[in-house]
Amino acid sequence: MRKIGLFLKKLLPERFYIKLLHLYGFFNFFFCFGSKYKCILCGKSSRKLLPTGINNEVALNLIGGGYRLTLCPFCFSADRERLVYYYLKNKTDIFRPGRISKLLHIAPGESLKKALKSYSSVDYISGDIKSSLADIEIDITDIKFNDNCFDVIICNHVLEHVLDDRKAVEELFRVLKPGGWAILQVPISKKHTETFEDFSIISPEEREKYFGQKDHVRVYGKDYKERLENVGFEMELYDIKKDLSVEEIKKYGLNIEEIIYIGHKMS
Ligand SMILES: [Zn+2]
Repeated sequence: MRKIGLFLKKLLPERFYIKLLHLYGFFNFFFCFGSKYKCILCGKSSRKLLPTGINNEVALNLIGGGYRLTLCPFCFSADRERLVYYYLKNKTDIFRPGRISKLLHIAPGESLKKALKSYSSVDYISGDIKSSLADIEIDITDIKFNDNCFDVIICNHVLEHVLDDRKAVEELFRVLKPGGWAILQVPISKKHTETFEDFSIISPEEREKYFGQKDHVRVYGKDYKERLENVGFEMELYDIKKDLSVEEIKKYGLNIEEIIYIGHKMS
C-alpha cells in the first residue's frame, strides 16, 4: 500500500493526491478504529499509525527522519507536525485571543496549516518554492517581504533541502520582528558532531546514499544550534520529555528524541 501511495504521489498533481488521501482517510476510519493513539491535530483516535520515511542506514540515524510508524491514518499528519503543534499550543500564547500574531509558515504540511488557520489570533500566510499547498511562492533564500514583518515563523524540516541554508536562515532572521521567534526543525544525525555537506554530491542516488534522502543536501550534526546562533538567533531548546510522560508521548505519536529549536530575534 505504501509503495502504491509513493507511486501516486509522484504521478498525480498535489491537489489530486491530497483529495485521494482524504478518501483513504475516510475508509481508514473502519480499518484503524481504536484508542491506542490520539492525534492532537485532528482529534481522532486510532489503533495504529501509518508508515513514513526512508529505510536506509543514514536516514535511520537521523532524529526526525527515517522509516517510522507515525502518520495519523485520518489527517496524515506526521510526528514532526504534531510536535510543533503541541509546542505552539501548550508552550506559547499565540492561540490566546486578544492579540494577533503574524505567522509565516514555510513549506506547510496540510494538517498543521489547517489547525493554524483555524485560530483567529493567528494572521497566517504560508509559502513554498513550489507547492499548491502554500498560499504564495517563496524562495526561502530570497524572501520577498520587508524586514521585521513576522512575529512567528515555522520552518519545519525545510533547511535540509536548501543548498544555501545560511542565506535562508539569514532571510528568516531578517523578516522576523525584533522579539519574534522561529521554530527551525531539521533532521539531526545521532552520529555526526559536525554537519556533513559536500556540494559535489548532486545526483539523487548519491544524495540518498550520503544524506539519507534523494532531496536532502546535507546531514546536520550537533553543531546545528551553533549554525543558527552564528546568524544572530538566540537559541532556546525544548524537550517534550519535560512535560509529557513516555506513555503520553507514545499515545500522541510524537518523536521522543526530537528537540524543538526555537530561534529568538532579540529586541
Ligand atoms: Zn490526525
